[in-house]
Amino acid sequence: MIWNPNKECMSRDERSALQGKRLHKIVEYVYHNVPFYRHKLQEMDLTPDDIRTIDDIVKLPFTTKKDLRDNYPFGLQAAPQSEIIRIHASSGTTGNPTIVGYTRKDIGVWSECMARCLTAYGVGRDDIFSVSYGYGLFTGGLGAHNGVEMVGASVVPASTGNTEKHAKLIRDLGITGIACTPSYALYLAETMEQIGITKEQIKLRVGAFGAEPWTESMREEIQERLGIKGFNLYGLSEIMGPSVSYECQMQNGSHINEDHFYPEIINPVTLEPLPKGQPGELVFTTLTKEGMPVLRYRTRDLCSLMPGECGCGRTSVRMTPITGRSDDMLIIRGINVFPSQVESVVLSMKEFAPRYMLIVDRINNLDTLEVQVELRQEYFTATFDTPAAIDELQKRLASKLRSVLSIGAKVSLKAPNAIERSQGKSVRVIDKRNLK
Ligand code: ADP
Ligand code: ZN
Repeated sequence: MIWNPNKECMSRDERSALQGKRLHKIVEYVYHNVPFYRHKLQEMDLTPDDIRTIDDIVKLPFTTKKDLRDNYPFGLQAAPQSEIIRIHASSGTTGNPTIVGYTRKDIGVWSECMARCLTAYGVGRDDIFSVSYGYGLFTGGLGAHNGVEMVGASVVPASTGNTEKHAKLIRDLGITGIACTPSYALYLAETMEQIGITKEQIKLRVGAFGAEPWTESMREEIQERLGIKGFNLYGLSEIMGPSVSYECQMQNGSHINEDHFYPEIINPVTLEPLPKGQPGELVFTTLTKEGMPVLRYRTRDLCSLMPGECGCGRTSVRMTPITGRSDDMLIIRGINVFPSQVESVVLSMKEFAPRYMLIVDRINNLDTLEVQVELRQEYFTATFDTPAAIDELQKRLASKLRSVLSIGAKVSLKAPNAIERSQGKSVRVIDKRNLK
């Protein structure tokens, strides 16, 4: 089934024409409503009239996460506050999160895009669907939720946490579909096994997995343990949230909702656009967004756009799975974590040397984070044999880290010079999860 064949299956030429028209309109809109873009375009000697077809997009400036941060909180918002009906936030690098406001029309487009994804996965009115992404500031929960309501399935807003209760609900309600991170799906499978719920007792058949990278071997394991078919769901808050792209039944790449989010692949070093098929950094321009439209937003996600047609009948371009990032962002339990956030906390406490290490692992299918930090010599000498002081310091650091990162970390205090010095480029992260 296809939710919106008019848009998902339109001819390439027709779609390009629509994209060109929308691009012109969005450039005109930000030119008049967002001083940041007006100044950028003026600096480049561009006016909205220079942007007529979709191929003109390469003339436009890029937007980065730093631009969003520098304009915190509402600097890039194009619509007046009275038109904004929802605000989400995604974790930033250091300090400010990224704030994204949506108008009523934006929420409608988002729901429609999410409905396209769910329909491609085979979800319909008869399904009972559990949304187990986090609700709240994160876009995962409410984003998926609206889509499930739009397709007319029964939504169960389970969110994350309380996994035993959730497992029982899956059995007792006959839940048939679930949206969550792939690592949560494995954790759920494990919890079910522990409390004695077998896959024969449940009716789950479809999973919408995303918000973090995952591999084919994870897919196989989830499918085998839960007895379901797992589909990729990709998105990011700066562009919309989940539903930017989705796998169809062919499961050969993820179709991009490109009548709303125009994709390009660039070389992250030279910023040159790359032809279809070549791997590089994914860049999106929102073609219809009113709240916070972005021009050529650098996602930092690495992948390629696939040439050729898909057997499902959709004509929208497909992207390959994300193979990595062109920055150092980690995704731990679905939350974006930058080593620089840890650094800012460590530097803000006088007891520590500016030397730290993040150790990320996956134990029983749950991501773990350990932060090792070196004590300064003076502090180490002064408190060497006072365990109470060390304990207090450890707790203080852990609580600061939790408030900055939004996830808990195990803190390990180290003696001066205990953290290994690397030769050359310093190594701040050891990721043992083996996600490639
Ligand atoms: P969201 O709230 O939609 O998860 P965030 O802005 O918090 O958005 O995080 C978006 C990032 O999460 C993406 O840039 C990408 O790195 C990662 N991500 C999201 N979905 C997927 C997916 N299906 N596969 C790989 N990475 C993903
Ligand atoms: Zn397809």
